[in-house]
Amino acid sequence: MNVLVINAGSSSLKYQFLNAETAAVLARGGAERIGLKDAFIKHSLNGADPLTLVIDLPDHKVAVQAVLDALTSDQHGVIKSMSEIDAVGHRVVHGGEKFASSVLITPEVKKAIRSCFDLAPLHNPPNMTGIEACEEAMPGVPQVAVFDTAFHQTMPRKAYMYALPYALYEKHAIRSYGFHGTSHAYVSQRAAAVLHKPYESLKIITCHLGNGASIAAIRNGRCIDTSMGLTPLAGICMGTRCGDIDPAIVTFLQEKEGLDAHAIDDLLNKKSGVMGLSGVSSDFRDLYAAAGEGHKLASLALDMFKYQCRKYIGAYAAAMGGVDAVVFTAGIAENTPDIRLGACDGLTYMGITIDAYKNNAVKAREAVVSTDDSPVKVLVIPTNEELAIARETARVCGIAI
Ligand code: AMP
Repeated sequence: MNVLVINAGSSSLKYQFLNAETAAVLARGGAERIGLKDAFIKHSLNGADPLTLVIDLPDHKVAVQAVLDALTSDQHGVIKSMSEIDAVGHRVVHGGEKFASSVLITPEVKKAIRSCFDLAPLHNPPNMTGIEACEEAMPGVPQVAVFDTAFHQTMPRKAYMYALPYALYEKHAIRSYGFHGTSHAYVSQRAAAVLHKPYESLKIITCHLGNGASIAAIRNGRCIDTSMGLTPLAGICMGTRCGDIDPAIVTFLQEKEGLDAHAIDDLLNKKSGVMGLSGVSSDFRDLYAAAGEGHKLASLALDMFKYQCRKYIGAYAAAMGGVDAVVFTAGIAENTPDIRLGACDGLTYMGITIDAYKNNAVKAREAVVSTDDSPVKVLVIPTNEELAIARETARVCGIAI
């Protein structure tokens, strides 16, 4: 089954066209600067260098049509006609409490996604624009929504509620939802397959450490807790997001710095994290380079990141009553042996011991990096959210993979 996976942002639209059964990627790319000057489409086939097509993209509808034209083009296309697109899978960031799994998009589903706009104002509206643009361009092709929050809907109430007046939960649905669910589900299932153990028998801690970072506790195939909350700002510190802080800091800053709600939001989401603390960069390659040259705040940011990961690993082992596997994924964790080593440092008493030699040799590939006699296995599993979305889309369309 050929699935077009769409991830629509406010001025961008990333796509991957892949075979859900074989996992073969036929084409990938993205439209950028939609609605702005100098818009363009990047399009690459079978992993080849991308072609850049400069093209006017006034809105998402035109961008979707341009992607379809690229896919079906005589010169750089991969299919003869749109009829070879069997379904479209859309990444939708927030499904609120309404969606615990992926769904075929209907008018009722769209209404429910719209009702979550307040919970993800930067993401759900452009996701919806992408859905409607695809519906118009491909009438009759099944469209499926795959939610970042769905996998975490199995969390028990004691894990997802905040100790705020209950009326606020009833009025505004203020609770923890968690994000990166598609990734946590994919890498935890892969880890079980790599370990040749039934997924439903394992206690797994997944550490998705990329520009956004979150950690999840998965017991017997169900998420029981995760570090992000109502929004993707909570949990461990990230590239530019502060992660968990004392909530009183917000009012303290409002008073002392005279910041309004918008400025605070901007500060905590875009000017904090390892970038804000170090003043160097949100990119871990830059932080390591600076730390290597003696930059003390870059070293501190790296130490804090590893320490906070370690605390969550300890907390989630306690929450699950043990742990069988710790999984590292996403840009930072897949590529940086030192982050994995630091996050597991001193956890031998819990049965977690990394083999430094094996760990150092692993970058961006699947591997077990714990010692042979470590009771808890530590794995690196590159995430593949597009493949997970394509498979979910196939499943919703009734194709068993
Ligand atoms: P992601 O959000 O999963 O795409 O991760 C992006 C982040 O991963 C970047 O901002 C970097 O901090 C980090 N990253 C990507 N590649 C590398 C690398 N080769 N070494 C260290 N960090 C990397």
